[in-house]
Amino acid sequence: ANKIKMENPLDFYPEELPGVKEALEKNDQAGAAEKIQEYLEKKDKIPLNIGITGESGAGKSTFINAFRGVDNRDEQAAPTGIVETTMEITQYPHPNYPNVLFWDLPGIGTTNFPADEYLKLVEFEKFDFFVIISDTRFRENDVKLAQEIQKMEKKFYFVRSKIDNDVNAEKRSQRDFSLEGSLGKIKENCIEGLETGGIKSPKVFLVSSFDLHLYDFPCLQKTLEKELPAHKRDALLFSMPNINMEIINKKKEAFQAQIKWYSVGSAAVAGVPIPWLSVGVDLTLMVKAVTDYEVGFGLNESSLERLSSTAGVPYDELCAVLQSPLAAEKITTDLILKVLSHFTGTTALMAAEEGSRFIPIFGLPVAMSLSFATTYRALSLFLNMLADDAQRVFKKALGLNPSV
Ligand code: GDP
Repeated sequence: ANKIKMENPLDFYPEELPGVKEALEKNDQAGAAEKIQEYLEKKDKIPLNIGITGESGAGKSTFINAFRGVDNRDEQAAPTGIVETTMEITQYPHPNYPNVLFWDLPGIGTTNFPADEYLKLVEFEKFDFFVIISDTRFRENDVKLAQEIQKMEKKFYFVRSKIDNDVNAEKRSQRDFSLEGSLGKIKENCIEGLETGGIKSPKVFLVSSFDLHLYDFPCLQKTLEKELPAHKRDALLFSMPNINMEIINKKKEAFQAQIKWYSVGSAAVAGVPIPWLSVGVDLTLMVKAVTDYEVGFGLNESSLERLSSTAGVPYDELCAVLQSPLAAEKITTDLILKVLSHFTGTTALMAAEEGSRFIPIFGLPVAMSLSFATTYRALSLFLNMLADDAQRVFKKALGLNPSV
């Protein structure tokens, strides 16, 4: 697991970031660094607006909290179990990504507005997609709303909530209980109702907000990933809770794809040479990258605290499985230097052949190449460490053995 994964240099081109190649060809390193800085800043500000609607009591707030990795009892939590009386729209930002907003929209039935007026009132244009939640079969109102959303050329997904309740009830009442059989029946029922109402091949997902890793939530995640425009995918991915190994690996791949830009940026700035490292690297860029990894994997202190309360595992026990010196720490230049110094001279930081292979692609001058390769290898190493920690924490939170 500690092997550093290198990208195939043919998988990307400097053209991906307009202006960088041109700047480097003109030997305008400051210009290239500026373009990269711009990209790195912009990628953190991509807005994602998710509209969650359904009748009061359907499980909207609980779903929003689970998605954000926030415990229902948390003070940042959307209030649950309170009966709505007004047309109140509340937004809940993701605790790590304030540009990812979850909107708790009142059920269309509670508002008495026709679907088109309802959508105008909630300002439907701003939403990337809608989730329509019901804890029973979907109703005429849900159908009408979905049809109107479709007319507005927006995407919508049906979530049938509280599936854990159904499963438990069936377990108790049926002698020859089969999980697949029960789930299949519930889904069929939902789809039938929606099709009868006139929705063609509705997308229905069976979800328990108390156990997002079970039932259809992982499938909802994949569907959203497929259907979102490319530039929004990472925003959704990074704000997803670590519901399975696949998500952790996808986050890792997405971070890995960004390392080339950090490395060109670092080489272009070619900060202060560090004597024992013998090359100049830009430590502030490294701090930014590693902070991104830590937060994206939910390994910063506040994320771990939230996980501790949603999973019901003491904070200290989660921290006990961490092996990297970076997790649960504030990432600073000092910490990065400390960890780097530990690896200097080891093969982990040597500019291996693999790393050098794509230096020509960027047209980097020789003087910059060493810095590029060092940053590339260092960030790949840090990313691997944190991804491994994320897997261990994930297993610990589920009560599995973290070392297998
Ligand atoms: P809202 O009015 O649509 O926001 O619904 P809430 O999120 O407040 O949920 C209403 C009630 O259903 C609360 O008591 C929740 O604890 C419960 N609930 C919500 N989601 C689930 C779920 O997935 N499983 C179970 N068992 N209960 C749930």
